[in-house]
Parts: sequence; C-alpha cells; structure tokens
Amino acid sequence: MKYYSTRDPKQTKFDSAQVIKQGLATDGGLFVPDEIPSITEEEIKKLCDMTYPERAAYVLAKFLTDYTVDELLEDCKAAYAKTSFPEGAAPLKKVTDSIFSLELWHGPTAAFKDMALQIMPRLLSRALVKTGEDNTALILVATSGDTGKAALEGYKDIDRIKIMVFYPVDGVSKVQKLQMATQAGNNVNVCAIRGNFDDAQTGVKTIFSDTTAKEKLLENSYILSSANSINWGRLAPQIVYYVSAYCDLLNAKEIEYGETVNVCVPTGNFGNILAAFIAKNMGVPLNKFVCASNANNVLTDFLETGTYDRNRKFHLTMSPSMDILISSNLERLLYFSSDADTTAEYMAELSHNGKYTVSDAIKAKISENFCGYFADEEETSATIRKYFNEYEYLADTHTSVALACAEKFITKNGDGKKMIVASTASPYKFAADVYGSIAGKSASEGTGALDDLSALTNTEITLPLRDLDKKEIRFTKVIDSSEMLNEVYNFM
Ligand SMILES: *Cc1c(COP(=O)(O)O)cnc(C)c1O
Repeated sequence: MKYYSTRDPKQTKFDSAQVIKQGLATDGGLFVPDEIPSITEEEIKKLCDMTYPERAAYVLAKFLTDYTVDELLEDCKAAYAKTSFPEGAAPLKKVTDSIFSLELWHGPTAAFKDMALQIMPRLLSRALVKTGEDNTALILVATSGDTGKAALEGYKDIDRIKIMVFYPVDGVSKVQKLQMATQAGNNVNVCAIRGNFDDAQTGVKTIFSDTTAKEKLLENSYILSSANSINWGRLAPQIVYYVSAYCDLLNAKEIEYGETVNVCVPTGNFGNILAAFIAKNMGVPLNKFVCASNANNVLTDFLETGTYDRNRKFHLTMSPSMDILISSNLERLLYFSSDADTTAEYMAELSHNGKYTVSDAIKAKISENFCGYFADEEETSATIRKYFNEYEYLADTHTSVALACAEKFITKNGDGKKMIVASTASPYKFAADVYGSIAGKSASEGTGALDDLSALTNTEITLPLRDLDKKEIRFTKVIDSSEMLNEVYNFM
C-alpha cells in the first residue's frame, strides 16, 4: 500500500515508513492511503478470538505493508502490554441498554492519546531504519497539557529518538505540570516557557523552519521530527479500536454479525472520528458517526450548513482537549469526499479567509455518514451528574459531551441501533470539574480534587494519576521563549 498527499492531483506515492517519518506532505497536505483495505466477515470473526495487541497487528498490517507482520506484532505487544494498560487497551463497557462506552484511557497518561502514542514511536524507530536514516530523530513538542505527557511516555527510552517538550509555565493544570515534571526516561527533556501556549508553539515552529539550526543539528547527527496528530502513524492505530469494539459487541452477544451500530466521538482535531469512518470503509458494519463538540461548535455548524467558519469566539471549556477551531484531520474527509484540487482550494480559502463552503454534492456525501451535535457547559455538567446517579457511570468532561450528543442523536433519529461512545479521558484527569458537576460545590485545590472525587464516588483514582505529588521532580527549568533553541542545543 502506498500513500499520497490530499493536495496532490498527481498522487505521487510514498511508503508508510516515509510517511510516518515525514509527518506532513511538502505541499502542506495530509497523507492518505491509495485505497482503503477491506476486512471481511470471516476476518472479523477471526479477530473476535484474538487479544487486543493481536487485533492491532492484524489491522495495522493491512495499512503498513512495508512493515512485516512480525514487526507489527512485536510492537503492538510492547505498546499495549498489561504493564501499560492494566485494564486492557480499549475495554467496552455497557452503560445503558443501547449505549456502550469504549474506554480509551487506560494507558500510562490516562487519556486516549496513549492509544496512538504508545505505538507510533516504535513505528517511527523502525521507519528510520527502513528509510536508511542514519541520524537520531529529535522530537519537539509544544503542548497545552495532554499531548506533551502522552508523547513523553510514548517516546521515553525508544531507540534513536530523543524528545523535548515545551509547555507554558502558567498554562497547564497542576496535575499536568506534575505529570510532566516527574517524567521518567533517559532520552527526555521538559522545559517550561514564560508565556502562553502560542509562544511555545511559535517557538517550536520557528526552530522547525530555521535552516541554520537544522544544519547545526545535522552536523551532530540529529534530524527534527514531530509527534503531530495529523501524522498517519497516529491515525492508523486509532482504526483498530473500532474494529475491536465491534468484535467485543459480537463476543458479548449484544449484536448479530452484520447488525450496524452508530458511533459518537468527542471531537477536536477530527482524528478519532475519522478513524471510525475508515473502519466502516474497510467493511466493519458501522452506521452513522455523531461528531460531538463543546461550545466551540465549528464542526456542528459545518455538518449542518456546509460552511466551515473559524471566525468566531473561542471558548475555554471544561473539555479543553476539544477547544479547537481548526480541525486539521477534516482535510482527509474532504479529500475522501472530493478530490485533491477541490481539497487544496478549500484549504487555501481556510488559510486566507478563515472559512470555506463545500458544494451541495460534497455536503450530501458527508451527510450520508456524519452528523454533528454540541453540548454547552451546563449540559456537560448535567450529563456527568445524570450518568453517575442513574447509571453509576463516571464520565470525564469530554466523554460527557459525547454522551449528551449521543442522547440528542437518539432523541432525534431513534433508529434503535446500538451506540458506541468513545470515552477519551479518565474522569480523574479532570477531577475538579467532574467533582463539581456531581457534588455541586468546588473541589480542593490541585491534586486534592482527585481525593475528593474518589471519596465522593467511592471509586479508585486511575493508577497513573495516583501519588503524583510523591514522585521525584526531575524537570524544573523555566526559560524565555527566545532561549528555546539554546535549550535544544544543550539537550543535543
Ligand atoms: C485529543 C482529545 C480529544 C479530541 O480528539 P481528536 O482526535 O483531536 O478529535 C478528545 N478528548 C480528549 C480527552 C483528547 O485528549
């Protein structure tokens, strides 16, 4: 299987190893596979008897054909081992008669980013060998919280790779800061920036486009690489858990083979929900994809009207990982629903005017599979409270947005199908807001909120978030953003 850019009408082809190493196409487009491989009824039934790492290797082998099945199996077994995912990689929990929660947060950082970032570094490490790269890859990440920690955990102690994370000193939560400051691994570095997330992000982008810096790094045998969510190496592993969830529904005798189910995903960059769409195109019997947003409902409007318009107020919400106005992975859906020229045209309009409107034909095509709903802050809180009180299900703020939107979809469409809701973070990762929603009063400061939530709900604090305040602090450095490059040189 080969890959090409969503903006390249000539469809110049690349191997998956190159695509994973490179991240973004040189024309600014995203890499897509030249065909979606199929999975048959017989194969899905065979997967029902396999473990998660085996299912993952089987599905990934269809997309990453320049990796051997043995390589993929070895990497999947290491990435999704019990030591990293003590409760299994992607358990499916029955919440109501029709709603099933696909819990994607049992990994080392308690958020769904682990599902991709535990495996992608291993794929990148092999990609360096496969593409004949002699240098060490230096991953630079600017983070507003969750991605930085998940990337650090994924890349720690991986061969031929070093990782450096920059975060805004006052722009992340106490828990997130502690998670990063106590990071283990001998190839990692973490540094706080005086400034906000944009300053950190701009600093990283400046280094990426600094040719003198790149030459100096190369003299020392380093190339720069990114852990960005538009990398195919992060998207492909996400397809797996939708196939796996369908197997789990079959195994639990909740459905008969061929019965289609709906999927609802709390969406930010559109990566997670796009992975579900790809699973359907492979042949997994999935029906509709409900795109769930918070008050930053740019996608709800797009799916409703066909106009994507980022010129709007930005809201800080209690589901911060979905506080996004440019949903990068939507570009891949546009491409699948049109062609390279049209995609490039819309993306140019987006960068110049901040908006574009798709044709009626494209809108109709997208509507066959997708619909959008959003939940505001009050609805999100009310849904956390309702699911805990009525169903004894403790949802984080992002999952709650999805549950609220799933209900709206069911009320409006009532197709009677089962619904998989992607649950993207541990409730303990957003303990203060979850506690506040149920208790109706504020939680204690900092890590005290985790103890409050545990006492209130009689549930255990998610393992990786336990005793955070007792772990050794390794990284305390705070610098100006102008010193970032120097810090990279020091690390090298
Ligand atoms: C990243 C993230 C999302 C959004 O996922 P996308 O693939 O960017 O749409 C939702 N919830 C949580 C907790 C996340 O960390």
